[in-house]
Amino acid sequence: MKTSDGSSALDASVLVLNRMYVAVRVVTVRRAFVMLCRDSAEVIHVDNGAYANYDFETWCELSQFWCEDPSLLAGLDQSDWVRAVRYRIQAPRIIRLLRFDQTPRQTVRLNRRTLFARDGHCCQYCGKPYPHSQLSLDHVTPRSRGGTTCWENVVTCCLHCNSQKGNRTPQEAGMRLQMHPAKPKHNPMLKLQLGNPRYQVWQPFLHQAGYAIDVI
Ligand SMILES: [Zn+2]
Repeated sequence: MKTSDGSSALDASVLVLNRMYVAVRVVTVRRAFVMLCRDSAEVIHVDNGAYANYDFETWCELSQFWCEDPSLLAGLDQSDWVRAVRYRIQAPRIIRLLRFDQTPRQTVRLNRRTLFARDGHCCQYCGKPYPHSQLSLDHVTPRSRGGTTCWENVVTCCLHCNSQKGNRTPQEAGMRLQMHPAKPKHNPMLKLQLGNPRYQVWQPFLHQAGYAIDVI
């Protein structure tokens, strides 16, 4: 499948709910289509505040119906369309699992993406923002000195500050942290995505899940 306009419709995000309508994770549109094709999930479509459930076949038919009516198509977000072999399918924003009752994780998983998002993609020593490729993960108390890999001991650090700090504590290196590192209450990736109007429809489900869900 190709995206309709060369943008990343397949890489956009889809909120996954369990059977009880509780948010459990976020996946890409690409992954959501795989789950829909296997009939392990259905589409939850929000239209004027009302929710409707569609199996994949009905969703494809509905997409085609929207495509054929220019007045309906005009009101839809064009970047949300994925071109299949013979027709276009609208990328869903929410899907619901039909088979498993997964419960949301209780804690936000620590990895480079969630760490950089927590720190707003800014180096926590010089305070400057950097692209993902220019950032690294720094152990405030170095691992060789017993520092662990936990939210309270890791910060986002630019490559320059990282080499300057080396295998030392900030005190020893004469460097100051912008903020005391702490475990985020909500998944920082979701916070970024909720800033995008495209994902506003997720809001009611996220409050229920307490935001502690995986973003894959
Ligand atoms: Zn820096």
